[in-house]
Amino acid sequence: MDVLGERSGRRGRSLPTRILIGLLVGAVAGSALNLAFAPPIGQPDTPEYATLKWWADEVVKPFGDLFLRLLFMVVVPIVFCSLFLGVAGLGSTRTLGRLGGLTLLWFLTTTAGAALLGLTLVTTIAPGRRLSADVAERLSIEYGGDAQAKIELGKQAKGFSADTLLEIVPDNVVRVAGDNKAILGLIFFALILGAASTRLPPDRTKALREAITALYELCIVLVGWAMQLAPLGVACLIFHASSKLGFDVMRLVGWYFVTAMGGLVVYQLFGITTLAWVFGGVRPGRFFRGCKALFATAFSTSSSAATMPTTIRTAVEEFGAPEEIAGFVMPLGATTNMNGTALFEGVSVLFLAQVAGIDLTLGQQALVLTMASLTAIGAAGVPGGSLPLLAVVLTQVGVPAEMLALILGVDRLVDMTRTVPNVSSDLVCSLWLARRERARVARAYQPPDA
Ligand code: ASP
Repeated sequence: MDVLGERSGRRGRSLPTRILIGLLVGAVAGSALNLAFAPPIGQPDTPEYATLKWWADEVVKPFGDLFLRLLFMVVVPIVFCSLFLGVAGLGSTRTLGRLGGLTLLWFLTTTAGAALLGLTLVTTIAPGRRLSADVAERLSIEYGGDAQAKIELGKQAKGFSADTLLEIVPDNVVRVAGDNKAILGLIFFALILGAASTRLPPDRTKALREAITALYELCIVLVGWAMQLAPLGVACLIFHASSKLGFDVMRLVGWYFVTAMGGLVVYQLFGITTLAWVFGGVRPGRFFRGCKALFATAFSTSSSAATMPTTIRTAVEEFGAPEEIAGFVMPLGATTNMNGTALFEGVSVLFLAQVAGIDLTLGQQALVLTMASLTAIGAAGVPGGSLPLLAVVLTQVGVPAEMLALILGVDRLVDMTRTVPNVSSDLVCSLWLARRERARVARAYQPPDA
């Protein structure tokens, strides 16, 4: 099913190509007008530039905002449904209850580890700070607001404190569902409700699970419709930014792209491969040979869900993992275990904060790490599935969500790349469990190198 409407458009171009064209058209048009009319920094606006700004703010930007709002709209149901179904499915597989705990442990630790790598890279490379001083000032004024507004943002943005921990447990679940900034409370509720549902006989919760599955699938269709507006939305948002900032916007995007892609490639080549060796007992050369089809499918589909059959096949046929284990880990992993997505979210949030001139404290960075990991777990395993959730993490730390526009134009390639570690981590988890369980499962697992 082509839920995301990625089929070629009327003129035969695929959606990612149209989004990239949108980025280029918006950036070139905005930058050219900026070049023609923007006064030097510190000089008063000319009437022409004032008119350009009015058009950018009042006419063009609302179209971009409309696209973003359509993505925001589905955040709450997607997070709730995906987490509820993940945990409910985990518990109902009673025979695999013990494996369930280990699987969750794997998902959480590898996801947080990947996010940490992303944060470390983006802090070291600082792609969002590679700007001339005057452009940095323009950006900071445009997105970070003036000094006073920044102080306000800083106050709103929370770090980790006793209050944050308390707020994870919502006092009113309807309130947290109505507030994108209180998403941690919703995540907690979804997880605990999922856990509770495993205490009732399966036939009592069957109808509820089916309804929630249907709601989840409907939301994915809505994301697909929203993404149809992405070419126009991205063009408008980038036009808005570049008409005020000029060609430097493109340079910024380039730095971001290099950082995000670099992090993903490093994580896949070194992180995942080492995990496969240490925990799965598979040597790097053997791992890569066995994973060729998996990597190709994940990269080309950009979807963990669509790759799931290949992930199962790879675990069972290439590496000899028992079918019961692969069949248990992969469906869960395809929707909840997203190492690459967590890394990408960490890089994106800190990059955009740097661009906005917002300095995040260590506590706030810890919050980004937690949010990136949790929202990666809640993201749908479809192309662009994490974008609505990324917007939520941005607002959580006081970065305007409209800044997402800066990275959307190049997101498809980043998405294809992050999907590879997303599915590889599921595979390695199943190899690890297979190794641990070989004494218990009926079919003994032979390490492929043996
Ligand atoms: N495309 C990713 C996946 O399916 C999700 C995302 O990060 O947007 O794994």
